[in-house]
Amino acid sequence: MSLPVLIVGGGLAGLTAAHLLHRAGNDVLLLEARERLGGRILSADAAGQVSEDGFDLGPSWFWPDMQPAMGNLIAQLGLSAFPQHDEGDVLVERNTQAAPQRYPGMRQMPRSMRLAGGTGAVVAALASTLPQDTLRTGARVTHLALEGTDVEVTFSAGNGSPGKVKARHVLMAVPPRLLQASVTFRPALDAATSRRWRTAPTWMAPHAKFVAIYDRAFWRAGGLSGMAQSMVGPLADIHDATTATGKAALFGFLGVPAARRTAVGREAIIAASVQQLARLFGPEAGVPRATLLKDWAFDPLTATPDDQAPGGHPMPATEPWVTGEWQGRIWMAGSEASHTEPGYLAGAVEAGGRTARDVIDRLAGARAGQRASVGAAADTGGMEP
Ligand SMILES: Cc1cc2nc3c(=O)[nH]c(=O)nc-3n(C[C@H](O)[C@H](O)[C@H](O)COP(=O)(O)OP(=O)(O)OC[C@H]3O[C@@H](n4cnc5c(N)ncnc54)[C@H](O)[C@@H]3O)c2cc1C
Repeated sequence: MSLPVLIVGGGLAGLTAAHLLHRAGNDVLLLEARERLGGRILSADAAGQVSEDGFDLGPSWFWPDMQPAMGNLIAQLGLSAFPQHDEGDVLVERNTQAAPQRYPGMRQMPRSMRLAGGTGAVVAALASTLPQDTLRTGARVTHLALEGTDVEVTFSAGNGSPGKVKARHVLMAVPPRLLQASVTFRPALDAATSRRWRTAPTWMAPHAKFVAIYDRAFWRAGGLSGMAQSMVGPLADIHDATTATGKAALFGFLGVPAARRTAVGREAIIAASVQQLARLFGPEAGVPRATLLKDWAFDPLTATPDDQAPGGHPMPATEPWVTGEWQGRIWMAGSEASHTEPGYLAGAVEAGGRTARDVIDRLAGARAGQRASVGAAADTGGMEP
């Protein structure tokens, strides 16, 4: 027995696709390698555990005015959004000799929006629309093989034993570069597909994000927005990360390349980041209640060694993602494959949604075809004309 549709990857793209396929009345199974859903979306508490009121270690922002599909999904799921805090002055740290300089902040338009509860709220909300047996975590797909009209998918289950499942349609909601590096195809991918996937950068995979959590947002009281830019580092770009419920925090993107981060080590990076926050925001910033550091470049379910160097922003593809024997058998459904916003959350919603709708149409077409042939058989007393 084969499933009508299987989804590989439980990030925003895979979950959006599963939600739409299930809503349209189709049986669907989603295999996710991690023990958690969300992929690059990770909202964690002060101990680093996934939380319903978390600090974002992955994406924080979306722009509903420019990304209506993303805005509509958030509205349909009944989630609440709030603007990124940007009231107050910004700081610029140009070199080690001069003190940071302070400038009046300018309101960014359109405003960057955040989700109450953290971006993980969209993951939890989508998962809650699906029957539990639709979602299988701890299931890393290792092989895909063409078997007649089906695709046979092999995955490693939690206990290390391999699982196999056959499906008519397979949506690959995984970054193309990671897929090329970590999944085996039989027959092998044609050279053009393999090259296309390998050269597609996975957006933000080379980056690391640091969060410092405080008892109060003291910088706001001092007329600062929490925004800072630094040419000194280790943090390059800093923002207020206070949650909708008022848990105070600052976050920054590390400006240090991945190779240097490994050489320096995690503890030294955390210590230098805290020192930098104290330089910028005063002594209170030097004593955070907790810190979080997530280095995506070394997460094997997001990045490959190729992602340790900056790869630029993915561009909308000008060629098909899949050519050769695999064309029409698998669909590239992750954010990087988006026609409109590759790399962004909105891209995950677009690519997951578009590929799901494509498969929904094919499944409906196949069912209509079956009904027509049953009807024709009934009209002829079960005899072919
Ligand atoms: C630090 C950071 C900041 C960002 N900031 C923003 C932002 O502010 N705004 C914005 O719009 N975007 C931002 N992004 C990008 C955004 O996170 C992504 O566009 C989006 O989350 C991608 O979703 P996806 O489902 O396509 O892929 P992913 O989230 O990468 O999901 C892929 C899933 O596939 C799973 N997987 C991988 N291999 C296998 C396998 N072999 N078998 C089974 N499962 C597998 C992974 O575990 C993962 O869950 C940021 C990303 C990062 C890392």
